[in-house]
Amino acid sequence: MLRKIVSLSIFIAMFIFNSCSGPKLLSWDELEIIPRAVWNANDPKEYKTHTIERITIHHEGTFFHQDSSALRRIKNVQTWGMGPDRKWIDIPYHFLIDGKGNIIEGRNPLTVGETNTSYDPTGHVLISVIGQYHRKQVLRVEQLNSIIQLAANLCIKFNLSPDSIKGHRDFCKPNETSCPGDDIYRYIQDGTITKSVKKLLLNKLN
Ligand SMILES: [Zn+2]
Repeated sequence: MLRKIVSLSIFIAMFIFNSCSGPKLLSWDELEIIPRAVWNANDPKEYKTHTIERITIHHEGTFFHQDSSALRRIKNVQTWGMGPDRKWIDIPYHFLIDGKGNIIEGRNPLTVGETNTSYDPTGHVLISVIGQYHRKQVLRVEQLNSIIQLAANLCIKFNLSPDSIKGHRDFCKPNETSCPGDDIYRYIQDGTITKSVKKLLLNKLN
């Protein structure tokens, strides 16, 4: 009987521990960021550096089948951005997330990103989700988890506050952009992303 009570107590204690501990923060290596070479990136042109102060979330803005490979799309974004239309030094974003939640390396985070709108991205590290999340596509849970894990790692790497995580539209004039789309922005607006990042960072300390 005593043995049963002891094992039941251990079971309950483990259950409580597991439900309190929550999701685990992945290390930078565990994020398995797909390197630029895999999408056949061109070398960047000369760039200016900045000090990272905040994290800003975008969507890439055109419909994308979430089960397909994003590598060609990413290469096309770079080719267009570095071409005569924009003359940017590289792909506009520092990190990209595909339809399955894979994280892909964009431009060097220490270079200032690019935008088609009026805000100055100096000091922002830009995460862009491939696809169109403004009333067209629905963010998958694995994509949301990757945003959260990547953002938590960026907070550690660059000593940023999770409260600095915002969406592109937060820095623009009203109605200038729908980016990152309502279906991503709702997780910024209701605090899901910031709270989840804080929880991961807290779990790491405990
Ligand atoms: Zn944007």
